[in-house]
Amino acid sequence: MSTNDERPGFYFHEKTLWFSAGEAVLVLPPDGWLQPGGSHADSPEPKRRLRSLMEVSGLAAHFDIVAAPAAAEDDLRLVHSAGYLSRFKALSDAAGGAVHPTAPFAAGSYEIAALSAGQAMAAVFDVATGRRRRAYAVSRPSGHHCLPDMPMGFCHFANVAIAVRRAQRAGLAKVVVLDWDVHHGNGTQACFYDDGSVLTLSLHQEGCFPPGASGAMGETGRGAGVGANVNIPLWPGSGHEVYLHAFDHIAVPAIRAFAPDMIVVVNGLDANGVDPLARMLAHSETFRAMTRGIGLLADELCGGRLAIIQEGGYAESAVPFCGHAVLEELAGVSTAVEDPFLELMREQQPSTAFNAAHVAHLQQHPRYRPVGPAGSSSHGLEAVAAKPNAAAQTMLAPA
Ligand code: ZN
Repeated sequence: MSTNDERPGFYFHEKTLWFSAGEAVLVLPPDGWLQPGGSHADSPEPKRRLRSLMEVSGLAAHFDIVAAPAAAEDDLRLVHSAGYLSRFKALSDAAGGAVHPTAPFAAGSYEIAALSAGQAMAAVFDVATGRRRRAYAVSRPSGHHCLPDMPMGFCHFANVAIAVRRAQRAGLAKVVVLDWDVHHGNGTQACFYDDGSVLTLSLHQEGCFPPGASGAMGETGRGAGVGANVNIPLWPGSGHEVYLHAFDHIAVPAIRAFAPDMIVVVNGLDANGVDPLARMLAHSETFRAMTRGIGLLADELCGGRLAIIQEGGYAESAVPFCGHAVLEELAGVSTAVEDPFLELMREQQPSTAFNAAHVAHLQQHPRYRPVGPAGSSSHGLEAVAAKPNAAAQTMLAPA
């Protein structure tokens, strides 16, 4: 890799697509009334199709594409206990299985999960140490539900937490981890809950996963970490407007107040309107706008240092277009790709009354900040127009 390469890094290892959660019907093993023969919701297709779309659109040429090595055991031990690692490895070396019922895996998954963590780790490390300004990684299996001692929700290693700890060992001080995956980033929250050096924020569907109270507004950190955890639970059915309002008025001011040295995004794309594992109505322009906002914030606060790690997202139709929008924005280019689902998603947005009621609810959040007349506390994402984006440098023809 050339250190003069201004392109963002794209960290991806083909073998991460080989991870298998085994046979399931959506997320449950075939049993009882569930006819065998289904496939688990965590299929490789959404990520494979995004990678493929990048080639077809020409966007891939705007990234320095890297297959990073697997995380070493010493790296995994920055977050995980030796007991968990040996238990996972033993099952993986045998026939596969599950340490937790929500995270089944096939034989050989330990090594693939270490590769997944390795992509996130390299992306964060290379930005943190100044080798590049921006980076994107595809992690599969995902990581943000994984606890230090227990996998959960398709997540086997805490990819982003490992990456942040590794970068902190190399000198990085204050880090923001912004998680816009539709499910609560409970694992990342747990890894940093009593640590004031990492501000964790999670924008998620209220009570979706882990089911119930996880991700409540009142979970704000512990000890030295008090105030460094911000949960923004959103009502089922929330769409573009509510997402951007919460982003602008809660996430942005909290990140500004924290003054990070680097921003890491957990880019779950499962708040899209057709995802099988959530009930939200975001679309590709929502993800584009949030990416633009976080990029501007990174430029303002921390020399542009930004790493985006893709994890969740289960709709093989929508995820490629949501991810492509994020990548276009990150690279500052626009391609000829048009999201064919966008108009339908726009027509299905929640009502004005829903949005007004939800905004009034968000105003009760302790970290909510109003936007001044000049928009001084916000990037005003609610007013951001769809593509072509302001940062677009190049119009690409499809290959
Ligand atoms: Zn998710």
